[in-house]
Amino acid sequence: MKLVLVGVGQAGGKVMEAMVAYDRQSTGGFVHDAVAVNTARADLLGLEHTPLARRVLIGGSRLKGHGTGADNELGADVASEDIGEVTAALDDVAVHDVDAFLVVAGLGGGTGSGAAPVIARELRRLYSEPVYGLGILPGRAEGSIYSLNAARSFMTFVDHVDNLVVFDNEAWREGGESLRTGYGRINEEIARRLGVLFSAGEVADGRPVGESVVDASEIINTLGSGGVSTVGYAATPIDRPERRLFSRQRVAPDVGDSTNRILSTVRKAALGRLSLPCELSSVERALLVVSGPPAFLDRKGIERSRRWIEAETGSMEVRGGDAPVDSDYVAAAVLFSGVTDVPRVKELQQIAIETQRTMRDIEAEGPEGLQDLLWSGDDGEDGID
Ligand code: GDP
Repeated sequence: MKLVLVGVGQAGGKVMEAMVAYDRQSTGGFVHDAVAVNTARADLLGLEHTPLARRVLIGGSRLKGHGTGADNELGADVASEDIGEVTAALDDVAVHDVDAFLVVAGLGGGTGSGAAPVIARELRRLYSEPVYGLGILPGRAEGSIYSLNAARSFMTFVDHVDNLVVFDNEAWREGGESLRTGYGRINEEIARRLGVLFSAGEVADGRPVGESVVDASEIINTLGSGGVSTVGYAATPIDRPERRLFSRQRVAPDVGDSTNRILSTVRKAALGRLSLPCELSSVERALLVVSGPPAFLDRKGIERSRRWIEAETGSMEVRGGDAPVDSDYVAAAVLFSGVTDVPRVKELQQIAIETQRTMRDIEAEGPEGLQDLLWSGDDGEDGID
């Protein structure tokens, strides 16, 4: 599937570049073009894989390139004002070769949170191709205002995309590691998961074609029109005797082993850590991609895994296929679409409601509080002159 990536804000730009890097190193071929949009000049300058003509500064006249300071209403305003500059950067993209757009943003800050839904809405207005979102939720430790931003942006973003794939930073925090130092690792994880899915049907020169290829229309049908998705992933190392130095062995892998290996990898992918943890019984549709060396991609294993996902989710719409790659792993990526039972989203909404209430209370007592602070204890002659 060929995508145009639009990375909005700092997280959006970095995750977009991680996907571009994955695409290049794996010859995946799913990134057709990539554009970065930001209100902060320094963030745009920090990008590594994006040509200058594909870096768009918005809100320059109002914000002087200094960002929104986590104010997502400001992010949405300047995106609306400068939307022409964003779409102009896409003018020379050969959209007829593209299957979809993917707008990527961290939802806790100001720029990505506010501008990504505005940009997605405009892309949907201009193009007939589907527009998907990749929304990154903030960690709990980041504080209430980030949760409030994320809860508000989440609701708007879902409305303006054909599907919102969600990645929760909170679920991906590792013990002893701050979120900041973990971002590189998390971004690679996002790139790998989406990379395996989106590059499934793309055949680079010299790469073998799968037995049952997952093509763009299957991904589009799984994502559907509207709703939220999450992605699972797991990989199992394989022994490839033919690759050992001086080895003359040309042993085909045992079929039974291959079937079981695929099934256990798919179970790990679905039952392990999802990009956004959710109840699998609330999944509407699913797509399974199993990748690895062709000799290890056992058809029966993929079929049984598909049926296992059907039983686990209760969904009647589970698509699946293989993606041959030269690697030392058999990997499974599962896209669960149309999920509705997501505790983390409910938690974010609760934090957002409480934060909003507290902010209103503070605002309401604002003037008296300041008068109290400034009153020096005496209005008469002895007061501060
Ligand atoms: P913006 O530039 O105003 O959109 O704000 P940022 O992108 O800097 O931050 C928005 C949110 O994205 C933060 O609250 C973090 O949760 C998250 N974030 C920031 N940088 C990264 C990153 O590199 N990777 C990931 N996964 N999340 C990030």
